[in-house]
Amino acid sequence: TQIVPVAVVTGASRGIGNAIVKKLASHGISCLAIASSPESIRSIALETLHKQQRHRALAIDLSNWPEWTQKETHYGIELQPNTSGNFSLFEMLQSWSTPDKRYCLDLLVNCAGVTQTTLSVSTPPATISRIMNVNFMSCVSLCNMAIRQMIRDRKYTTSTPQIINIGSVLGSSSLRIPGTSIYASSKAALNQYSQVLGQETDRLGINVQTINPGLVRTTNMVQDLDKRSQQQLEQLKGVENQTVDQIADIVWASYTNSM
Ligand code: NDP
Repeated sequence: TQIVPVAVVTGASRGIGNAIVKKLASHGISCLAIASSPESIRSIALETLHKQQRHRALAIDLSNWPEWTQKETHYGIELQPNTSGNFSLFEMLQSWSTPDKRYCLDLLVNCAGVTQTTLSVSTPPATISRIMNVNFMSCVSLCNMAIRQMIRDRKYTTSTPQIINIGSVLGSSSLRIPGTSIYASSKAALNQYSQVLGQETDRLGINVQTINPGLVRTTNMVQDLDKRSQQQLEQLKGVENQTVDQIADIVWASYTNSM
């Protein structure tokens, strides 16, 4: 039986996550591309991805944690055949598999993220919870769900499955910008969580890494910031300017180096 690796990528509708999906698909990896809503998953342009592979997009609003973790199905679309419907998170691993082709979960990339535009003192609780739910809590739940599936898939494959969490230089270095306190904390938590999780999954043969981008100024995350925050980011010393394709290359290199 041929083993086909599958990657689950969040934040796949735009920016860095979208570049990661395109990179993985160009190397023949089947992708489950996750974004927040039916409208945003329609923008993923599955038809432009690698034609020989199966791909699916799923709408999950990660700010709605922990409720989304209890939903049995989520709205999704896929090509070949052109279908839409409600699917459980990893349903495609079953429905795509045939007697001679087995689709196995080999990679989770937690890339969805939301930023902050106000000082801590003026940030309402709903905004704090949204940032933490998308940038941290949902990543933890997706890691747990992926680990359980990766353990189930061990009977078919001998590869080393991986989890790559996208943090930020603001959560992993001594750089500080006023107005990013909760965002930076969510990313610091994600870094620390990934390190301990990596130790826990080491004995299971599952690799966990964090990639901490510098400044990727072309994405909505930076473009939607007010001018003052954008200037502060630009002026920070020691922050590397990167493109979405450079981050996607780093993800691909991390994935292939740890195989
Ligand atoms: P974008 O704003 O361009 O894209 C954000 C992505 O996250 C979108 O796909 C969006 O989906 C998804 N997302 C946001 N909210 C939710 C939600 N509630 N549920 C599900 N998905 C959601 O961001 P970037 O590409 O710039 O950032 C990607 C990651 O990289 C983030 O984690 C960010 O913190 C990190 N990063 C970015 C840097 C930068 O300079 N740009 C620097 C360092 C780290 P939808 O279209 O449905 O809203």
